[in-house]
Amino acid sequence: MAHQQSTSVDVLIIGGGIIGLTLCNLLLRAGYRVGLVDKKIVRDSPDSTSLKNAAWVSALARPGQRLFEKIGIWENILQSAAPYTDMQVALCNREKIVFSNRDIGQENLGYIVNNTTMLKYLWGAVSNWRQRLSIFEDQPLSWTDHERKLELQSGEVCYTSLLIGADGARSWTRSACKIELKSNSYIHDSGYIGVLKHHIPHENQARQVFYDAGVIGLLPTRDPEASICVWSTTDQGNGGKESPMTGDIEHLNRLFNDVFEPAEYTLDGTWTRRPIYSHQACSYVRENALLVGDAALCLHPLAGQGLNIGLRQVEILAKCIIAAGKANSLSEFDDYANSYQRQCRGYDALSQQVISWCRTSMTSTGPMQHMLGFGAYLLNKSSLLKRQLIRHALEGNQG
Ligand SMILES: Cc1cc2nc3c(=O)[nH]c(=O)nc-3n(C[C@H](O)[C@H](O)[C@H](O)COP(=O)(O)OP(=O)(O)OC[C@H]3O[C@@H](n4cnc5c(N)ncnc54)[C@H](O)[C@@H]3O)c2cc1C
Repeated sequence: MAHQQSTSVDVLIIGGGIIGLTLCNLLLRAGYRVGLVDKKIVRDSPDSTSLKNAAWVSALARPGQRLFEKIGIWENILQSAAPYTDMQVALCNREKIVFSNRDIGQENLGYIVNNTTMLKYLWGAVSNWRQRLSIFEDQPLSWTDHERKLELQSGEVCYTSLLIGADGARSWTRSACKIELKSNSYIHDSGYIGVLKHHIPHENQARQVFYDAGVIGLLPTRDPEASICVWSTTDQGNGGKESPMTGDIEHLNRLFNDVFEPAEYTLDGTWTRRPIYSHQACSYVRENALLVGDAALCLHPLAGQGLNIGLRQVEILAKCIIAAGKANSLSEFDDYANSYQRQCRGYDALSQQVISWCRTSMTSTGPMQHMLGFGAYLLNKSSLLKRQLIRHALEGNQG
């Protein structure tokens, strides 16, 4: 029988996306031996200038920013981040709500950050801890909980006190641990991401437009005449076409002309499709395995909260693991695991319900539209309520 190479770590993370790498950094800094498995490791400068990667961005709120400060990479990320100072939300009936940094007396409402750039610096930071880090460019094959043993497809074996599934929306860990998924049956959207050129500078304004077939989000870049466009729509809304972008810029232009003034922008012809999932794992914990990030919860991107809530989970989970380590209880993690789950699942479920409600109600037509229009009018007049909402979006996901 071929000899199986084996490694032993305190915590083994499957998934080297932003969530897995952030957790990995926090645990390495706290002195843990960490294993990281990813099928594709992009250690050196992933190309953030290719059009596909340049348009893959997230609106980062303050707690995420503070986590990156703690890891020591925020200054680097900031070099290419674009602050946004205003956020305009327009409903189907064109009623608008405008949020501004002036409402809360702060410099901006957050930063638009390139996801590939975050990955690049997170990888740079983990490589400072090589002596405690085991990297496996591989895929998991099986997890045996009572032995706490993960077998990889290459035949390598890794023993760990805790297994963390940070392996995204279609998580292997979730399936291997037989954790069920609660999917939102109302949402069947795809996301299309591209670059929009403004004829009038964007002045650091983010925009969101709800219309009957979906939601269009414009996120300003450092180029005053370019925004990243995140368009989420039902495939049915586009005549059932799988990808309305392919060779169909005219179709897209017509849709955009309904929503924006044609004199305001030009659409670039290159678009990337990203699947949109809306689901939550029925449990974030099974024996010695835990889920985090998109493996635990996937949100519709309209509120730009998916990554932010994932980073909130990371912060809470890292605190639980570090507290268990201090009490020599990493192998008896139940109470800490329950604490992680308690602090996250309810908050996550509520966030998902609110966001799903926005996606279904705010794009609906008829009497509902009039009611929402009136609500938006009142909200726009209430600086107190707006201040509360901005503070929640900016700081509410504090772990
Ligand atoms: C269109 C769109 C726009 C969005 N905009 C925003 C926004 O503005 N703000 C925001 O906060 N969030 C946003 N999000 C959500 C955000 O992108 C995700 O929540 C976040 O990227 C999830 O990170 P993750 O690390 O959990 O998962 P992923 O990024 O999916 O990483 C998973 C990692 O696991 C690895 N992996 C998976 N399976 C295996 C396996 N079997 N073996 C080995 N490795 C494996 C993958 O290679 C990958 O590296 C958006 C999402 C979409 C779809």
